[in-house]
Amino acid sequence: RFIVFEGGDGAGKTTQSALLAEWLTGRGRDVVLTREPGEGPVGAKIRAILLDPATGDLSPRAEALLYSADRAHHVDTTIKPALGRGAVVVCDRYIDSTLAYQGAGRTLDLADLEPIAWWAADHLVPDLTILLDLDPVEGLATIGERDRLESADDDFHARTRAHFLRLAERDPGRYLVVDARASITAIQEQIRARFERLESE
Ligand code: C5P
Ligand code: MG
Repeated sequence: RFIVFEGGDGAGKTTQSALLAEWLTGRGRDVVLTREPGEGPVGAKIRAILLDPATGDLSPRAEALLYSADRAHHVDTTIKPALGRGAVVVCDRYIDSTLAYQGAGRTLDLADLEPIAWWAADHLVPDLTILLDLDPVEGLATIGERDRLESADDDFHARTRAHFLRLAERDPGRYLVVDARASITAIQEQIRARFERLESE
């Protein structure tokens, strides 16, 4: 099982993915909780380039390729081996983040970006993507110091949110869209219920 959390900054992906992983572990499952960008030594180096304010302006195509490079390495060295041994992989961000932030946000041509992004992901499609939907103004207000990307303007974040929602609408059977303003407990209940439904399908 490959479960992905997506959504804007400050929507609660990290909290909710950790709670899901904990619950699954408690039920005796082999769980790998991971994230993008930044897993492992290669991920950490790519993440540092992407998030360090000292990086300055980065060409949007280069940015998209760096996120994709992180994902390619992550898929090959962490996600696929874990799925191969039957683990549940819970991943904080995946391909939708690249399509939403670099595609819609940075206004790269999605017709160009999508095939590259899927190639980088080795065409590995999540079994379930949980989209924590939140007005970016609210999300960004909850986080402390902003990194290089969180500092982008409001229109950028509005385009990103709209694209996350568009991706979910395109493939509703594979998504759970949650209003991220609900309480942590209420959100986690919806996620667990959806996971149980996936298990019974
Ligand atoms: O989710 P996390 O906080 O680790 O993401 C790190 C930063 O990278 C955030 O500022 C997020 O907005 C940004 N990001 C991005 N494009 C992606 C994934 C994350 O701009 N594809
Ligand atoms: Mg963040």
